[in-house]
Amino acid sequence: MNKPKILIVEDEEAILEMIALNLHNNNFKPLRAINAEIAEQSLNTNKPDLIILDWMLPGMSGIDFLKRIRLSNSSSKIPVIMLTAKDQENDKVLGLDYGADDYLSKPFSPKELIARIKAILRRNSPGLINEKIIYGRLIINVENYVVTYKDNLIKLGPTEFKLLHILSANNQRVMTRERIVEKIWSNESEVDFRTVDVHIKRLRATLRDYGITSSIETIRGAGYKISEAKHFE
Ligand code: CA
Repeated sequence: MNKPKILIVEDEEAILEMIALNLHNNNFKPLRAINAEIAEQSLNTNKPDLIILDWMLPGMSGIDFLKRIRLSNSSSKIPVIMLTAKDQENDKVLGLDYGADDYLSKPFSPKELIARIKAILRRNSPGLINEKIIYGRLIINVENYVVTYKDNLIKLGPTEFKLLHILSANNQRVMTRERIVEKIWSNESEVDFRTVDVHIKRLRATLRDYGITSSIETIRGAGYKISEAKHFE
């Protein structure tokens, strides 16, 4: 299993190294850049899974670099967490407007940064982080594709497993059929949205066999979301 690659763009060496060390200790592969130019090269050669971007950089600013990232086809979908010494609400809004996925003001705790990174990767790239998802008494072990409920093994097909994983990783966020198709069948061209409905139906039926009567909710005109955790107790 490859470690997720995180590109850190930060000119202050002490902060750069502090972040790199924490990433390393949490099973990520840190990539370092001290300005936008070096970061751009790293983007092309290393294809990072997420970018931590400082606002104040020598040369091109973090916000200008963020605009570039979002305009380029190859990097437009890479999640970005902005770092800044400024904690003004305006800057936060500006950063999020330009497509930052999250925002941290300095000084921040490394623990908080790691939590934010995991939350974003969990949403954007389920499967990239090897971990257990615990939802009520349901445990989804991503590494070995094992799901248990109240210590009983639940047998799921590969597609149902991915569905359950995506929905639980997104913890009550509604997932559209488009998004589900993109996540599960990204490499296949034509997957009918009804295919999603069929697999949802199967997943619900299996979970019902184990006593989970309300597992996945249909949100009319939008998509699906996992039921509240209390239904999995
Ligand atoms: Ca800086």
